[in-house]
Amino acid sequence: MIPYGQQDINQQDIEAVLETLQSDFLTQGPRVPAFEKTVAEYCQVKHAFAVNSATSALHIACLALGVEASDIVWTTPVTFVASANCALYCGADVDFVDINPETFNLCPQKLEEKLKQAASENRLPKVLIPVHLCGLPCDMRAIKQLADEYDIKIIEDASHAIGGRYEDLPIGSCQYSDITVFSFHPVKIITTAEGGMAVTNQSDLAEKMALYRSHGITREPSLMTHEPDGPWYYQQVELGFNYRMTELQAALGVSQMHRLDAFVAKRHQIADRYDDLLKNLDLTMPVRSTSSYSGLHLYVIQVDAKKRLGLFNLLRESGIGVNVHYIPVHTQPYYRSLGFKIGDFPGSEYYYSRAISLPMYPNLTENDQNYVVAKIKEGLML
Ligand SMILES: *Cc1c(COP(=O)(O)O)cnc(C)c1O
Repeated sequence: MIPYGQQDINQQDIEAVLETLQSDFLTQGPRVPAFEKTVAEYCQVKHAFAVNSATSALHIACLALGVEASDIVWTTPVTFVASANCALYCGADVDFVDINPETFNLCPQKLEEKLKQAASENRLPKVLIPVHLCGLPCDMRAIKQLADEYDIKIIEDASHAIGGRYEDLPIGSCQYSDITVFSFHPVKIITTAEGGMAVTNQSDLAEKMALYRSHGITREPSLMTHEPDGPWYYQQVELGFNYRMTELQAALGVSQMHRLDAFVAKRHQIADRYDDLLKNLDLTMPVRSTSSYSGLHLYVIQVDAKKRLGLFNLLRESGIGVNVHYIPVHTQPYYRSLGFKIGDFPGSEYYYSRAISLPMYPNLTENDQNYVVAKIKEGLML
């Protein structure tokens, strides 16, 4: 089976993990801070917190921004459920902003309309979570301008986008956001098996995320309510979680970071080749931006909704692990039980009815890519 996404693990990655396995620390050692430093430097951001998943990173990001019951968080319907679930974990309500029909990212115009409406009803969100879908950066300048106007905080869900750039700064620089979150799941751009990271330039948010990641416990005397009883002393000052990343994962992360630029460059080569091979077919290729640099986590084509299932089935039967990203979150049964329904976000639903994610990962061979394209041609003729 040719998968839609796959990690690239080399001998150096393996040695980094083995070396860690034989070292003094399997958790809470030097490698997690080293990984955080590597990512922070790469992203040109001040603070970074490695955690056990992007889902956890989204959760501590919401908590650090003070999201609680009675608050509202907005995101896009076209994302993985975790982008919305993080707000529910905090007891907040979730709502969605429909997508731009070309980029499939959260649409600034629709955001503006919805904000006006929400302001008139006194139901403004506290936090907005734009997602750089497939790695393509959102229109962050426009989104940030609106967020400032309405005093809303921003968490960038950059699970697809490490290695990408927006306005000549790396995704993760938080130029137009309060916190940015990355995922290191094996299908994403770099991997730590499971893993995620939250980055920020704001020291108050950094302090809170450090607490929430590890039980709300601090060993820092300045954060305690009184003088430490002794050198063993720690205090729990918040209700936190155990979201820590292991040393094995961090060692793998550091090693993978060495190849991040090469991974993304290879993804661009593969996308260029798809663009070329698919250009005369009855389908819509993804938008390729010239003003920003995509992480290119996914390459999603759009086909006639009536042909999608047949094409999808033919590709799967041909050993091609195509997928669909994403089923709009508001249509999930859990979200329907909260009151959302089909028809609420027509742009997202239309996108979903036509989307297929093609294989996209650094080790995809030209032969395999040719085979995928040949089968798409066959499938479109059905
Ligand atoms: C993968 C993904 C997540 C969750 O990442 P995990 O590391 O698996 O928790 C969140 N948001 C988006 C957009 C994702 O693609």
